[in-house]
Amino acid sequence: MAIQTQNPATGEVIQTFKAHSDAEIDLKIAKSVVAFNELRNWSFAERAKAMVKAADILESRAEDYGRIMTLEMGKTLKSSIAEAKKCAWVCRYYAEGAESHLADDVVKTDASKSYRKYLPLGPILAVMPWNYPFWQVLRFASPALMAGNSGLLKHASNVPQCALAIEELFIEAGFPDGAFQTLLIGGAKVERILRDDRVRAATLTGSEPAGASVASICGEEIKPTVLELGGSDAFIIMPSADLDKAVKFGTTARTQNNGQSCIAAKRFFIHEDIYDDVKTRLRQSFEALKIGDPVMEDTDIGPLVNEDSLKEVTEQVQNALADGAVRVCGAEAIEGEGYFFKPGILENIPASSRAYHEEIFAPVALLFKIKTLGEAIEIANESPFGLGSAIFTQDEAEQEQAIRDLEAGATFVNSMTSSDPRLPFGGIKRSGFGRELAAEGIRAFCNVKTVSIA
Ligand code: NAP
Repeated sequence: MAIQTQNPATGEVIQTFKAHSDAEIDLKIAKSVVAFNELRNWSFAERAKAMVKAADILESRAEDYGRIMTLEMGKTLKSSIAEAKKCAWVCRYYAEGAESHLADDVVKTDASKSYRKYLPLGPILAVMPWNYPFWQVLRFASPALMAGNSGLLKHASNVPQCALAIEELFIEAGFPDGAFQTLLIGGAKVERILRDDRVRAATLTGSEPAGASVASICGEEIKPTVLELGGSDAFIIMPSADLDKAVKFGTTARTQNNGQSCIAAKRFFIHEDIYDDVKTRLRQSFEALKIGDPVMEDTDIGPLVNEDSLKEVTEQVQNALADGAVRVCGAEAIEGEGYFFKPGILENIPASSRAYHEEIFAPVALLFKIKTLGEAIEIANESPFGLGSAIFTQDEAEQEQAIRDLEAGATFVNSMTSSDPRLPFGGIKRSGFGRELAAEGIRAFCNVKTVSIA
């Protein structure tokens, strides 16, 4: 895949980048080792000073960064600006909290003193996707650097300007030269880096095939990995729910980021008593969304990321309809310039269709009419994925049942799944393993050293 900036709103290729050569990659890895040896000896206060500076820069340049994100992957400018500001939040969270998350943890034993000590591992490779081009990277980079590791970023090939801007950000914030570097490379070069002894661990956020490839290479190399992969999250609405709230959150949860979010609500399980009412309200809510130029303030939905993505979702919808699904509204490509797709809703999704089992990475909601919560959970758990989930109900027993039985890395009650630096984030089943954010996120790339002093 070419490393280039192509505006999804117009299809125009704006700039093409030359990939780094093997020699350049080797130099960058060498630099990463040197930077690690410096950063690991910095105090938490020194690391925090640079991380707070990074947060300040993210906030003061949120609009500039936002324009790059919108240009390269098509999300609305207002959501891009919000993304840059959220990145500042995660930087501040770890600047303040890293020291306590990684404090020596004393355990009483027969020794005179024994404790857990959290030590950094070294250079870590992060393979990242384009859909939240700043947030995905910053939620890895801020804990990794605060722990004393160095980072090497292989970003998606369609967001090179974002990748370079993030590298600049950490240089300007005052981290050691080489502490966080961008590698302009395609996916095919990842194996070589993973097999390099100097690179100690890897994290990948992206699709299943990419995750499986990285995990299997790291398995052979005995290197720790964190995988954040796809999802097909359930969004359950029961009769006692506040329906206005459920429809409002449901619409946002399915269509935010132009429908390209791993934790989007993709399958809606609606109790039969309220099904028709909720369906009508959801349709009205989807039809009210304004599709258009992502830079405009009043636009809700920009283009999909590229032509392949538009083709893929169109095929998934056609396959479902051919198998017997019914179109409630939208769910079709929009003729003309750019990769625009009308948000839509399908119902009566047959189990034979691709949409029933696959992730739909575009704004298409699948509706399922269910008789009981147990039935909703059973169908929800048929998915190979297990990332997020949500339930809208006032009934505490139903809330408990969903929390206990939904196979997912998160269950949000009366709210939509979202990421928050203070809470761990990640999935189970084919959505991946390991956790980002919170204490788990910063400990993921640490050597939990056992210390025992007789
Ligand atoms: P993708 O095609 O897997 O790309 C993700 C990254 O992996 C890119 O940098 C890509 O590089 C690289 N890559 C692709 N194939 C590779 C391989 N065989 N070996 C090594 N690297 C490889 O995924 P995407 O289409 O960009 O992202 C969408 C997917 O990410 C969805 O499934 C979504 O649900 C998931 N996602 C998950 C989370 C989460 O936290 N769980 C968050 C966001 C997105 P190139 O661009 O050069 O191909």
